[in-house]
Amino acid sequence: MGSQACAAARALVASAHRITVLTGAGVSTDSGIPDFRGPDGLWTRDADAGLGASIDSYVSDPAVRRLSWRAKLDSPVWTAKPNAAHKALVELERSGRLRTVITQNIDGLHQKAGSDPHRVLELHGTLHATVCLSCGATGPMRDAVKRVAEGEEDPDCLRCRGILKSATVSFGQHLDGEVLRRARLAVLDCDVLLVAGTSLSVQPAAGLVPLAAKAGAQVLICNAEPTPYDDVAAVVLHEPVGEVLPDLSSVPPSGGGRFSSWGDPSTWS
Ligand code: NAD
Repeated sequence: MGSQACAAARALVASAHRITVLTGAGVSTDSGIPDFRGPDGLWTRDADAGLGASIDSYVSDPAVRRLSWRAKLDSPVWTAKPNAAHKALVELERSGRLRTVITQNIDGLHQKAGSDPHRVLELHGTLHATVCLSCGATGPMRDAVKRVAEGEEDPDCLRCRGILKSATVSFGQHLDGEVLRRARLAVLDCDVLLVAGTSLSVQPAAGLVPLAAKAGAQVLICNAEPTPYDDVAAVVLHEPVGEVLPDLSSVPPSGGGRFSSWGDPSTWS
């Protein structure tokens, strides 16, 4: 990490008082969880792999649900361990500068690494829970996966027999309105938005980047490949997040000490 862009990224982080981070699947590839659109991504290797990812096909086609449950049996998420990128964000939080981690990931690795769960906004939900599409009952994913391992191909809701699904946001489903509201506030109330390991091709998550830039935040994008929002960023690094984030989290603040912000405007009286 010696380029001019790296030096500019370090200077941005050094001067930052309120950092919001937006992460994507690229932050977890070093933990053994493949992304979708990277060079080794699930959808890059198999163009049909994403066909069952819509809520319509999940609801209407039992074969899609069976495939989805079978895939969960072997998911790398259950055994994945946080990597250097997740741990670096924990360090940045402990330095007092990182306020919020907005993640598109569903693997729970930020919390597993030690990020304060109250500061982590899971825009696309979590794979660690299930939800019934009829009655809304939620439960631990491990219970459903156990039923699949014991022979049920399409486990249903034990309360109302409705269709059970992971508590993740599929294509065609709305994001949780409250989580999205808090994510928007977090990008409006930061001086630096650090974007890491995302192709920025999924909305409304990607739209948080121009929103932050319009509100005056400096945007720092770290992704292996170019993104559609590189032109709104103050600094772009096409480097591995497992190297960049530890380097950035080790940057001491230039102003020294802690500071306060106005916080969440909805709490102002
Ligand atoms: P994406 O697959 O569209 O993009 C990932 C980006 O990260 C790619 O551009 C890739 O080049 C880059 N990348 C991969 N490894 C990297 C590394 N070590 N260093 C730097 N860059 C790296 O993923 P996305 O933008 O997050 O959007 C895809 C959707 O898929 C999200 O909604 C997410 O919920 C879901 N998803 C989540 C997981 C997970 O929870 N770990 C895994 C796959 C997909």
